Order: sequence, then C-alpha cells, then structure tokens
Amino acid sequence: MVLAELGGSISRALQQMSNATVIDEKVLNDCLNDITRALLQSDVQFKLVRDMQTNIKHIVNLDDLAAGHNKRRIIQQAVFNELCKILDPGKPSFTPKKGKTSVVMFVGLQGSGKTTTCTKYAYYHQKKGWKPALVCADTFRAGAFDQLKQNATKAKIPFYGSYMESDPVKIAVEGVERFKEENCDLIIVDTSGRHKQETALFEEMRQVSEATKPDLVIFVMDSSIGQAAFDQAQAFKQSVAVGAVIVTKMDGHAKGGGALSAVAATKSPVIFIGTGEHMDEFEVFDVKPFVSRLLGMGDWSGFMDKIQEVVPMDQQPELLQKLSEGNFTLRIMYEQFQKILKMGPISQVFSMLPGFGAELMPKGQLDSSNPKLMNESRIMRIARGAGRQIREVMEMMEEYKRLAKIWSKMKGLKIPKKGEMSALSRNMNA
Ligand code: GDP
Repeated sequence: MVLAELGGSISRALQQMSNATVIDEKVLNDCLNDITRALLQSDVQFKLVRDMQTNIKHIVNLDDLAAGHNKRRIIQQAVFNELCKILDPGKPSFTPKKGKTSVVMFVGLQGSGKTTTCTKYAYYHQKKGWKPALVCADTFRAGAFDQLKQNATKAKIPFYGSYMESDPVKIAVEGVERFKEENCDLIIVDTSGRHKQETALFEEMRQVSEATKPDLVIFVMDSSIGQAAFDQAQAFKQSVAVGAVIVTKMDGHAKGGGALSAVAATKSPVIFIGTGEHMDEFEVFDVKPFVSRLLGMGDWSGFMDKIQEVVPMDQQPELLQKLSEGNFTLRIMYEQFQKILKMGPISQVFSMLPGFGAELMPKGQLDSSNPKLMNESRIMRIARGAGRQIREVMEMMEEYKRLAKIWSKMKGLKIPKKGEMSALSRNMNA
C-alpha cells in the first residue's frame, strides 16, 4: 500500500529512539527530525509537519518528566496522537441514514477516479442494505454516462443520465427527483471534472449543488497528487461545501501524504480510500486503526471485523486457534481458503496484523512462479486424479508455499480474547 514506506521510516525512527540508552534532548531531536524528513518526503504539507514537531516537543517536555516516567512510551504515544491529529479534522462527516433520502454529490478533477468511486460508494452501501441510485450529471466528458451506466448495471444499481441533454443541472435535478419518487435512500450525483481547476468547473459545481441541495459533498482526490493537494482541496472547499474526502489509488506507488493533507485543507475527514480499480477495492477509512497499521502496530479491530464479516461468531475461536498454531497443512489451507479469500484481498487482510507490513505482500507476489515442491510425476498424478491442468496443481502448490510461510509467522501470535478486544479498542481510543 501507498505510505508503507512512510510508516516504515517513522517506525524505524521510533525504534532507534527506543534503543538509545538514555532519552535526552538530542535523541528526541534526532527522532523528530527523522520523522519530519519522512513526512516531507511523502508530500505531507510543510506547515502540518512543522506544527506536529512543535506539538510533540511541547507535550514531551523532557526536563519536566520525572525519572520514573517511561519517556519512550510518552514519545511514541505523542507521535501516534499527532499523526492521528493530522488525519482527523475533529468532526465527523454527515452519514446517510437508511430509509431516509440523502443526496450525496461527488466532485473532483477529471481522472481522479470520481466516477469509479461513485459506484464503489453506491455498491458499498447497497451491500449494507441501502437502496442507492446513481445520477450522471457529467456532461463534459464524452463517455462519462456510458462508464457510469456500465458500472451501475454491473452492480445492479439504478442509474439516470442522458446522451442528449447538455445541461448538468437539469439532469441532476431530474435524476434526484426520479429516485426520490422511487424511494431510493441514497442518491449519488456524479458531476463533471476538468483537467485543471477552472472557473467553469467550479461554477457548474456550484449550480448543481444549489439545485440538488446535497446532504453531503464528497471531494475525490487521487493519492498521487503530491504537494499540490492542499491547494487543490482548498479550492474545491471554497466553491462547494465539501464535507468529506475520498482518496483514490492508494494501491499505487504514489507517496500519498499530499492527499492526506487534504483533510487539513478541507477540515473534512477522509471517509474511504480506493485501493484498486474493482468495485470492492474500497475501504472505510478510520484514523486510529490506519495510523496503527501505518506504524506496523497492527489493527486487531479491523482484522476481527473482517473475520466477523465472513465467519459466524461461533466458528471464530476455532479459526483463530488455527491461525495461531502455525501448524499449516494442505488440508487446513483447503478448509480455510474460501473463508479467508472472502475476507478481501489477502494482502489487505494481513496488513492489519502487527508485524505484517503491506510491503510483505506486494501485489505481484500473488503471481505464481515455478514451484519446486513436488516432483514432476507426482504433480502429473495429482493433476490426472483431480482432472486438472498440471499448471493448476503447480499454482496451488506455489500458493500453499507462500501461505505456509505467512502462517508460520503467526505461530505463537497472541490473539486477543473477546473481552480483551473491547479493552484494546478503549486503549486505541484513549
Ligand atoms: P474520473 O474522471 O474522475 O471520473 O475518473 P474515473 O473514475 O474514470 O477513473 C480514472 C481511472 O482511475 C480509471 O482507469 C479507474 O479505473 C482508475 N481508478 C479509480 N480509482 C482507482 C483506485 O482506487 N485504484 C486504482 N488503481 N485505479 C483507480
């Protein structure tokens, strides 16, 4: 994932500080300088980084700390809290309510992933029981309606748009009216983007917003935008009442820090991140678990949520036990594979565990190469017996080898018991 490098650099800076025999002013300064450098290299806005450094120094006043205080922990906690502060505007965004009509308008530059994100957002809510609908008020880009139509049809979500009408305001109003009549509770309006921030774009956005009176305006931003992010986000915020941000393409190689600065520019929270081109490559964004994962501290609550989504509660202890035993066989793989795969892209799931950085499982690693686990005749026998291609058996063995390696790392991993989970959440929220 994007930002993995940033997380690694900050973790290393904290680790180095922790390793020092005595925590003095110099050690603290070195640590903060390393963190500052890492954040700036990731395109986080300069002012935010400088404020963060000042705040940490203010909180961690080494002279005032009595000898008994655990300075390492205090510094770590301060870094964690300050990173959270950069990402948390302090007020939640509007959340649509099931059964009550909400209009959500999407804005952003062309190519940011706005249209794709509209469908992801609709699909996400549809899976959770909402009745969403999509309105294509993008009359600027040729093919925008076709794209939305195609995505919506795939996800079985009602849509509205026109090939003939060139007035986006008219389409937006008609679409919203139509879906209100049809009792849709989440009406999503996709607006035009431009290559650049232009007066015409902002004027059109303002008109669509005035006509449809959205409950929430979501600003979609490409994570690769870099230092320009802050100004871009601010320009959008000044034209329409942006209430939330979605950062896309977090699966790419962009530094990502710039887009996160958008939170400060719009004073609106990031609510989701896009992690791929597919409809379900879309994650809820929560500040504390995110920072926790970023620093390699794991996100147990996210992991448990994912498991809970696919495995009934009463089967959980058994699954967790198997994960922690490290005694991984082909049979266990067979039994668990379907369940685990249902949990979403596997690298995404593992990045939630402490010590499992995203860099451990880059996407390319999921491709099979040449396994040498079994000899040729055995592979041929298995393929014949199972009525499968030899290539498929080889791929399965490769997958097994890869998973066995991961599973072996989980051996002895302490899995929080049910009661401990709430204590953990309390700690994270403290
Ligand atoms: P729009 O012009 O802002 O409406 O952008 P589109 O929705 O057409 O997206 C532009 C391109 O970005 C398309 O090729 C999308 O598939 C791709 N895209 C959108 N979101 C993501 C994402 O989260 N990850 C990746 N890798 N690609 C994305």
